[in-house]
Parts: sequence; structure tokens; C-alpha cells
Amino acid sequence: MSDEFEHYNFDTLAVRAGQRRTGEAEQSEPIFPTSSYVFGSAAEAAARFSGEVPGNIYSRFTNPTVRSFEQRLAALEGGERCVATSSGMSAILSTFMALLQSGDHIVSSRAIFGTTSVLLNNYMAKFGVETSFVDLVDVAAWRAAFKPNTKLLFLETPSNPLTEVADIKALAELAHQHGAWLVVDNCFCTPALQLPLHLGADIVIHSATKYLDGQGRCIGGAVVGKEDVVGSEVYAFLRTAGPTMSPFNAWVFLKGLETLRLRMEAHCRNAQILAEWLQGHAKVKHVYYPGLASHPQHALAAEQQKGFGGVLSFEVEGGKQAAWRVIDSTELISITANLGDTKSTVTHPATTTHGRLTQQQRDTAGVSDSLIRVAVGLEDVEDLKADLQRGLDRL
Ligand SMILES: *Cc1c(COP(=O)(O)O)cnc(C)c1O
Repeated sequence: MSDEFEHYNFDTLAVRAGQRRTGEAEQSEPIFPTSSYVFGSAAEAAARFSGEVPGNIYSRFTNPTVRSFEQRLAALEGGERCVATSSGMSAILSTFMALLQSGDHIVSSRAIFGTTSVLLNNYMAKFGVETSFVDLVDVAAWRAAFKPNTKLLFLETPSNPLTEVADIKALAELAHQHGAWLVVDNCFCTPALQLPLHLGADIVIHSATKYLDGQGRCIGGAVVGKEDVVGSEVYAFLRTAGPTMSPFNAWVFLKGLETLRLRMEAHCRNAQILAEWLQGHAKVKHVYYPGLASHPQHALAAEQQKGFGGVLSFEVEGGKQAAWRVIDSTELISITANLGDTKSTVTHPATTTHGRLTQQQRDTAGVSDSLIRVAVGLEDVEDLKADLQRGLDRL
């Protein structure tokens, strides 16, 4: 991040970092919808292209609005450099393409975003990068999965949909003992709740589509980390391959970051109330939420995170039919697999996000037919309770 902001605290960075006012003296950040930039002379163009003189060249890899977003997110994550991408998936792809080569090995948590598993199994494998999948919370399993060619560890914490929590510090140490990178998808917590780089991770991935926007409007992603890895390797891939964030989307995310901490606190508050209420409900078998004392990694989450997040899941009595009944009885909560929105969403993982897995894979992952996931939004929590109560009372 630029030195001028280094001494400010999180809330100030969220609102101010990365802003560079133009000659128009605008208060709010401008959008630069331009594909290219004009040089004063042939010599200046040559100097820019060679990298001798910094500055804008072409918006595939240099755009002032995108740069503002990158600098603001880097500041919030405590990273030296951020590269914005067109989606969360292209942030993950760009990281793999930049850091790995044929013959390398990845150890990944089994409990990752479904499309990330597909990327690893169908595409990285096709180019000779093999992945071993392990239990997120079992550090011994991560250790046992190492091979001489292991280059990268990949995880999300808390996991989706069972909200298991990984020990980032322990896994960072393990990665570094073997000269591997630890890459953390920080989508569920955001820098408002968790700073993986401070805990030893090398790279943070974001689907900006989720909480960074927070209002369900745009698709985008980001990679954050050290200048000599993200600023050099990942940026070079982005410049060449072009999974670029648009200036308009960058502007939406930039404004999203300004309210990120306030929104995350409200998501956490609503989720905690809802989790405790569900835990006490007669028709609910089990609630998965790191903020509950009964959660197996409650203490770790309390130490590692500033809040327990906005996503919870629960099992009802009566299998798929009962779960669908609860979901179909909602009138307010949106039935959609998306998350990280002001609007609460509800989904049945076994037949949607985890529907492509075999029954045995679902059993291993702990995703039962009676499981319901709620990404808790910012509506009044009493209205959310009533919306779920309607279905639960019918069971
Ligand atoms: C949504 C999501 C992604 C993918 O992001 P897109 O912006 O949809 O490409 C990656 N990781 C996690 C944890 C997600 O929830």
C-alpha cells in the first residue's frame, strides 16, 4: 500500500486509502471508463511501455479506479500489494497460474467452494498440477499430505456450509517448513473480521462479489500479498492473460469497502442471535456457527477472528423433505446460493452447491440432506426468525 496511508487505522483506511483526487477536486472517487491513455510524446510512450516511467498504459493492467480499489483492499488486509480480477474464480486461477507449474502439487482443504474444486480437479490436473484434499481442521492430515513437490496449501475458513475453522497460524508454519505458500480464501470473514497475512498466510484471495460489495451487484475478485509475489508474478499473469476487473465494478467495490466493517458487525450480530434461537428450537437437530460455545473450534475462532461471520447452517428433523419445507415456507429470505448480501439467503447445499458430489463425498463432507444454510443479511432479525419459524412449525 502507498506509504501515505500506513499510519492510519482500519476505519480510516476503509474510507480513505487509495483515493487520489484529480484536478476536478471531486469528493467521491471517480470512475475512469477508458481503455487506453494518451502519451505526450513518442519518447514518453516508450518510457511507459518499458516500465522506466510508471503510469497508465492500457486498462487491461492499469486503470486508476481499479488501482484505488487495489490499494484500499491491500491496506485493509495489511498486504503490500493487491491485484484486482474479474471474479473470485479468476483470482484463484491467476494465483495458481502465476505460482505453479506442471509437476507441482497442491494440498487443499476438502471443504472449499465447489467451483474451486472443479478448477483443481478438471483444469489444474489437466496441466499436470495434482491436488490432495484433506480435512480442514486436521493439521496432522495436512502434514501427512505433503510431497516433495508440494508448492501450495489452499483453504477457506470458516468453511462452507459447516463453518469449520482452520488454524491459519499452524498451517502457515507447516507450509513454510516445507517452502510452500499458504493461500487463504478470505471471502467469508473479509479483512474486517480476519487478517490471514498477519497470521502468516502468504496470499489472500477474495471473491469481491460477496461481502466486499455486500449488496449483490457485481462480480469481482482480488489477490493480496507481497510485492515480489503478487506485484510481480500474479500481476504479470493478469497483464498477459487479462482477467481484469472493470473500472465500474472497481468503483462499486471501493464504495463497498467504506461500510465493510459496519456491515460485517451487523451480519455477525444477526447471525449470532439467529444461531442461538435455532439452537433452542425443538425441530432443529444441530446448528453450525462458530459463535456458539458448542462449536468445536469456538475458542480458535474467537482468537483468530474479530467476529464469527454471517453464515450459519442447521439440520432439521426429517431429511430433505423437511429441509425443503422450511426453505419453501420462507417469504422474506431469498432462495439462492449466493451469500454476502444485505438480503438474507437460504439454500439446501445437498441439492445445489454440493449437488454434483456423490452421496459418499457428501457424507464425508458432512453435508446431510437435512442441512440448511443461511447467509444472514441485514434485515430485522425478528423478521428473519419469524420467516424460518413458519416452516419449522410445520414439521
Ligand atoms: C463465490 C466464491 C468464490 C468465487 O467467486 P466468484 O466471484 O463467484 O467467481 C470463491 N470462493 C468463495 C469462498 C466463494 O464464496
